[in-house]
Amino acid sequence: MPLPTAIDDAPTRAEILACLRGDDAAEVAYWLAEADRVRQASVGSIVHLRGLIEVSSHCRRLCTYCGMRAPNRNVKRYRLTPEEILAAARNVVDAGLGTIVLQAGEDPGLTESDIARVIQGIHDMGDVAVTLSLGERNVRELATWRRAGANRYLLRFETSNRKLYRRIHPALRDGQTSRLPILRTLRELGYEVGSGVMVGVPGQTFDDLADDLELFRELDLDMIGVGPYVPDPDTPLGRKTASAGAGPVANDVATVCRVVALARLLLPDSNIPATTALAVLDRKRGYEQALVAGANVVMPNFTPTARREGYRIYPGKAELPGYLDPLFDLEARIRELGRTPGHVRGDSPRFERRRSVPPTMKETDR
Ligand code: SAH
Repeated sequence: MPLPTAIDDAPTRAEILACLRGDDAAEVAYWLAEADRVRQASVGSIVHLRGLIEVSSHCRRLCTYCGMRAPNRNVKRYRLTPEEILAAARNVVDAGLGTIVLQAGEDPGLTESDIARVIQGIHDMGDVAVTLSLGERNVRELATWRRAGANRYLLRFETSNRKLYRRIHPALRDGQTSRLPILRTLRELGYEVGSGVMVGVPGQTFDDLADDLELFRELDLDMIGVGPYVPDPDTPLGRKTASAGAGPVANDVATVCRVVALARLLLPDSNIPATTALAVLDRKRGYEQALVAGANVVMPNFTPTARREGYRIYPGKAELPGYLDPLFDLEARIRELGRTPGHVRGDSPRFERRRSVPPTMKETDR
């Protein structure tokens, strides 16, 4: 079924599938260049820098892909105190960045009131946006944090294939078998909403990825995070991958860049990061390849260095360059691409546009 076109020359379902498969190099090159052009025309040349703080590596979940899953004993678990989080946030603000991202495992020890206090404390530091990525928290917590001033929330739906999702993201006793209802709640609460998927999860197909892209559009996402699945030998899925091999979709930089490009073409004014997992696969050019294929955001890591290796969602993350100085080389590399490192809040133009449309028009708009 072809997608309804958002822009006149947006790719059809058939073109999306052909681009994802990547058999025709000229065709792929065409879509990547189109995505770069559309990125320039709709969100411009700024690459927004977000200061990432990984606030806790405790997690109650059993996700079979993630190194931080509850049963993994080889993780140095930590939880930053509100004061430690605020000190790290101060470093981000002092570096002149306009957004602070607080990310963590799904950790009930990060309490509703502590996080609310941290959000308020960050806003007291100046005009910075606060993004949360704390997993599947309840409506009350999400509402409290929004009221405290949280601006954005990142929660990847990981894959739109429900069977695959249930396999890699087992439900807990709360019985929640999808993240989609939470994404809708976040929208209703007035958050800028971000989601995304991993690429190259064993068992994932190209059709699944095309469905993922369609769902990005349906959810009208303001932010879209797409990264390669990185096998972690300390996880059930990682152990299996090592013996059976991945496929049919490759978990490599090239495939992720094709998904990034298609996401840009389908949602021209969303914010799309060049994700950390890309840099793990290719330290020298991981970010760059996504930045010239439609991405416009990078998230340097401001987690206190002593804690860094404890945030083990997959191996290889802690050894990235920028370990001591998160901005090391990054701004120069962005300028080398002819782009400008962003030191502003960088709200999603898609979010701004939706907000500026009167509600009556919005209904007819759908
Ligand atoms: N607990 C939060 C934050 C998790 S880390 C949450 O679940 O939303 C953010 C993202 O890292 C996850 O959404 C997932 O897509 C990604 N991730 C986790 N393990 C990974 C792995 N082994 N390879 C690649 N990406 C992974």
